[in-house]
Amino acid sequence: MKPVTARAAQGMACCLLALFVIFGAQPVRAAESTDPRMSRILILEGEANPWHDTRATTPMLRRMLEQTNLFSVDVISAPADLDLQDFMPDFTRYAAVVLNYDAPDGRWPAQLQRSFEQFVRNGGGVVIVHSANNAFPGWKAFNEMTGVGGWRDRDGRAGPYWYLDDSGRLVNDDSPGAAGTHGRRLPFRITVRQDHPVTRGLPKSWMHAGDELYARLRGPGRDMTVLASAWSDPANMGTARHEPMLLVVSWGRGRIFHTTLGHDPAALASVDFVVTFQRGTEWAATGRVSQAVPADFPADSAPRIRADLLP
Ligand code: ZN
Repeated sequence: MKPVTARAAQGMACCLLALFVIFGAQPVRAAESTDPRMSRILILEGEANPWHDTRATTPMLRRMLEQTNLFSVDVISAPADLDLQDFMPDFTRYAAVVLNYDAPDGRWPAQLQRSFEQFVRNGGGVVIVHSANNAFPGWKAFNEMTGVGGWRDRDGRAGPYWYLDDSGRLVNDDSPGAAGTHGRRLPFRITVRQDHPVTRGLPKSWMHAGDELYARLRGPGRDMTVLASAWSDPANMGTARHEPMLLVVSWGRGRIFHTTLGHDPAALASVDFVVTFQRGTEWAATGRVSQAVPADFPADSAPRIRADLLP
């Protein structure tokens, strides 16, 4: 065996470092659960940006799901700054994919887009959390799945604005303009608009903790049902419209639950976020909701916070 010179050792160290950089940046898959009674859920995160700290919120989402004892949860972090040609999570292993993820058009190669579309077409569930509805303005199928979205230069090409009128009817509006706005993060009231497995048993309305109240969202709105809305207050840069907060979409045989709530850990810890996220994920994964509404669900007067979930 040849003695290893200092120079060769340095070269090997560089190689090892390079391997670590390459493989260390690859998605990390958690240990697999083998309990067949649990639905397998994938939380896809990544693309950290100045507005949404998914590294803080993803562990909270994971805990919320695991605390139901209904789900086994894997987390995959999509590399943000690498070529994603080799990034190909096997969506078919999961009952539902939770997107705590926002990325620009072009980030996902066509093959990855097709694989995700096929998963949903075949009945896979999807959960869209808050800024995930900002992602991919030019990906037609994705926008059909989210129903509505905002920002990333969306305008009339994305589809009309969608909101509820004062009688609670879903209406759309083709007027030109940008998509996506919100005011300061103040508590606001959420009102249930539809009987649905996700909302069944919840109070008719409740207060949500300080959060971005997404408004002026645009999209195709096809096969979309708004389950709950919130009044966007003009005194807080709002639209004076009832804006969609919780909605469901069907796409192919897949079920999509979309919550526009959940800007940051403080908003995620609001009991109503936790409960609707847990129920929405179960519905997306299985088509039903078996969870009882917890006794600490917020009253109409004040939001309630799950301090134990905060990072
Ligand atoms: Zn936000």
